[in-house]
Amino acid sequence: MNHLSTDTFVSFVEAYANRLVEMRDVLNNLDNRIGDGDHGTNMARGFSAAVDKLKSTPPPDVAVGCQLVAMTLLGSVGGASGPLYSTVFMKLMAEWKGLTEVNRVQLQQGLQAALDGLIARGKASVGDKTMVDLWTPVVRRLAETESVWDGADLMAVVKEAVLGTKDMIAKKGRAAYLGARSQGTCDPGSLSSALFFEELFAAVLPKGAERIQWHTLAL
Ligand code: ADP
Ligand code: MG
Repeated sequence: MNHLSTDTFVSFVEAYANRLVEMRDVLNNLDNRIGDGDHGTNMARGFSAAVDKLKSTPPPDVAVGCQLVAMTLLGSVGGASGPLYSTVFMKLMAEWKGLTEVNRVQLQQGLQAALDGLIARGKASVGDKTMVDLWTPVVRRLAETESVWDGADLMAVVKEAVLGTKDMIAKKGRAAYLGARSQGTCDPGSLSSALFFEELFAAVLPKGAERIQWHTLAL
């Protein structure tokens, strides 16, 4: 596996922002069905602003890059997801303090800390139909993997986790107001988190990673 260098981190955030722009309507449509329809717009705006910040103020190390992203998201993404994704990058910053290269173990530990932070902040449990339902199985699979990460296997976990939220009844966030009517639609935050991992794996795996064809799936 390649290390996550500062440059690779910046390219990863850029690729993620591009992917969010590409998938903005898909994310908005999911949020329209079980929320207020702004998730794609929120995320695309926030991460595009984060890329602008990283380009105008190139970070000296990965942790400072994470801090810039966290601060930018707080200022530019409203809703539930802004503070939650900001927490992810704050936790990564704390774990990777001073590092210009993050290795596989540090990457896995950082993502575990980010998940713990998400849960502490949003108080969601597995099964509540939130992004925690995406992060939990993916981070668990990384913890179980002793050496080389297997891109195809990880992508399968990501895909299954998103589709697994479809029949859940939302217990947290706006979708919870719908109760049982939230069933039958995948959680938009789980899809945006899936794109985060797809781009992260593509950035650090030597052979890259095949993207999931979300357009072909019944979300
Ligand atoms: P809002 O619901 O305020 O409009 P967004 O539409 O941007 O915010 O984000 C909605 C997503 O946020 C949901 O799909 C869900 O994954 C995530 N979410 C909402 N509340 C929580 C929570 N308490 N914990 C974890 N994730 C949450
Ligand atoms: Mg919304």
